[in-house]
Amino acid sequence: MKRIQDYEVLGESYKTKSGNTIRIREKIEKDGLSEFIVECSRCSLDEELFPYGSIIIDIRKFREKRCSCLCSKTPQLTLKQKSIRCKRILEKYFAEFKSIFYKDSTCFVEVENPVTKEIKSFRYEHLINEKVSLKTLDFISHLESEISLGGNFNLYPVLNPVSRNNWLLHCHRCSEDIYTESGTCTGMFPTRLDRLKESIFPCRCSDKYRYTIDQWTLRSKIACERSNYKFLGLKDTDKRNWKISYICPKGHQRSSFMKPFVLQGKRCKLCSKDSYNTAGYYPDRVEELDTLYLTLFEGDDVFCKIGRSFNTKSRNSNYPNEYKLTVLSEIKLTHQEVWDMEQMLHDVCKGAHYSPLISFKGSVKECFTTDILNHPEIISTFNLKEIAND
Ligand SMILES: [Zn+2]
Ligand SMILES: [Zn+2]
Ligand SMILES: [Zn+2]
Repeated sequence: MKRIQDYEVLGESYKTKSGNTIRIREKIEKDGLSEFIVECSRCSLDEELFPYGSIIIDIRKFREKRCSCLCSKTPQLTLKQKSIRCKRILEKYFAEFKSIFYKDSTCFVEVENPVTKEIKSFRYEHLINEKVSLKTLDFISHLESEISLGGNFNLYPVLNPVSRNNWLLHCHRCSEDIYTESGTCTGMFPTRLDRLKESIFPCRCSDKYRYTIDQWTLRSKIACERSNYKFLGLKDTDKRNWKISYICPKGHQRSSFMKPFVLQGKRCKLCSKDSYNTAGYYPDRVEELDTLYLTLFEGDDVFCKIGRSFNTKSRNSNYPNEYKLTVLSEIKLTHQEVWDMEQMLHDVCKGAHYSPLISFKGSVKECFTTDILNHPEIISTFNLKEIAND
């Protein structure tokens, strides 16, 4: 057979029986049999395992169209390459690679159980061939079976536990829910064996699960979407009592306590007629000039009324003639500001509600005893002292 010259080899490529393509890149300068640095169409894509220069063939392999990479039945790997392969597999089982060595001509790998710190040796081939190594990495399967978790969970030791939660629970349900899908959770939950044995789960299958603020934000968004609310954000009040800000479908921009909103379906208070009188609120007129007033009613009974009106003149003609009216104070602001103040003051004065002898529209909710004139909130809001001094 004609001897192949080096210049005929360089730059050439061929397909092996395994279907990969080998391309000859460089000749290695050395005595004896010619050797070449080659690239494999498959293996060289993995640059960590096969950096340039790591796949070498001699001239005989070239003639026989064979290779020395992982595509070969008998790959020729360095210990460093073998340890990379082992580490990749052990990572999946949360076990720690300790060392790799040859004994006689067999390659062994030492693996540490991160929880018990026990070290076991496996044959390299057994570890790489995962099906075999799964059986031999028995400290995981052993502990999994020790705890009967009903088949919806996998359990892994934590590699470097920083707390007593030295196990990771992988929950099949919680690893596929919206929290994991949205990236606010990994689906893996640190926990302790004693808790698991008492059936206390660290995942969202347990009603004791503590949602993170990112997850509460997600829940708030979903609650808003379902009710056609525009979500504006969460804000922290004191004592971690979060509030949710939103615009309700009627256009009220407000905030409410987050948990009742998300968990109990509580919604915009302005829209819920049970807790507030919304009759006087006009969402489409929030920027319009409005008047908040404090009026004294004197007749057979004497009382005060706190109310608001876009038109104070027409309002005053709506009351029974039996009463003499004195406007003690008026404040002109936007409708939204007036409305907010009115609700606040009604709330402040609710202990002093008064039902007039002659009832009229608005009398049920807006009338109070004259005691409120001494209330600091009323005095400051309506600037009463200055009026008294005039
Ligand atoms: Zn290959
Ligand atoms: Zn779960
Ligand atoms: Zn509303």
